[in-house]
Amino acid sequence: METTVSAQILDGKQLAKTLKEQLKKEVIELKSATGKVAHLINVMIGNDYSSCAYANSQKRVAEEIGLNYELVNLAQNVSQGELIKYIQKLNADPNVHGIMIHKPVPSHIDYHEVANCLDMRKDLEGINVANIGKMLLGETQIIPCTPAAVMEHLRSTGMSLRGKEVVVVGASEIVGKPLSLLLLREYATVSVCHIATSEAGKLQEHIGRAEILIVAVGKAELVKGSWIKNGAIVVDVGINQVKDGIVGDVEFEVARERASWITPVPGGVGPVTVVMLMRNGIEAFKQQIRK
Ligand code: NAD
Repeated sequence: METTVSAQILDGKQLAKTLKEQLKKEVIELKSATGKVAHLINVMIGNDYSSCAYANSQKRVAEEIGLNYELVNLAQNVSQGELIKYIQKLNADPNVHGIMIHKPVPSHIDYHEVANCLDMRKDLEGINVANIGKMLLGETQIIPCTPAAVMEHLRSTGMSLRGKEVVVVGASEIVGKPLSLLLLREYATVSVCHIATSEAGKLQEHIGRAEILIVAVGKAELVKGSWIKNGAIVVDVGINQVKDGIVGDVEFEVARERASWITPVPGGVGPVTVVMLMRNGIEAFKQQIRK
């Protein structure tokens, strides 16, 4: 009788727990060596409900690890100039070690310009051009949080990425593009698919080749389970609100019958992403005390 083998689940909550324990130890060691704890600031413009909920989960994780986390709410109508001045003040404050600009920002704010005003050593999310350049060269440990979380999931499978056929679907600046660089650093053979790949009718063909598939698009169950190569590792970054709750970009129930490992949504990449933000905070702190 034929038996179906289900994928092993890449449990983000469990992985986040393990990583938090490691970071907690590091924070204790750094505190005993320097007498200080990293102080991280999240600059939020306005106080939109879902942004606040996300910030609260960051605060909870920071506290679990033993870091100081402060949420600063600026008025919804703060000007670009006022915001930049405020960032420069934080840059100059030796008691602030990490800064992030909470997204989304209002439409009158130029996010890239603000991100590039961050002191690169305090750039919690690894989003200013200096850190992106350093990531390309493999010269910084401060890297965008979601790609870092995907890399931790892949590492947890114990599988070497060297020479593996990896397909990334989605080429955004915060997920797909930086992730492709991190995968290249591990000598994977990387293909990056995007909207034009779908328009050309080639998405399924690329996905069918993937030994490791990472999807970060934001379209509910765009990737059909039947497209997935048998035994592939599947990391689903997508978060999509549908009538019955939250689903990813991959048709999970079918995909899990073909994959060897798969992340659930929710409970896969998300919980690890917040921990990666804290890891960047610790790295930023280390860079500043080393100076
Ligand atoms: P984005 O909108 O900035 O980019 C989407 C990418 O998908 C683009 O490169 C686009 O070309 C591509 N795309 C769109 N339609 C496509 C199609 N039909 N076929 C192939 N490619 C297509 O999105 P983003 O900010 O990178 O986020 C992607 C998803 O990941 C969203 O669901 C978001 O909520 C989620 N996300 C999750 C986390 C987390 O921590 N779990 C973090 C960030 C983003």
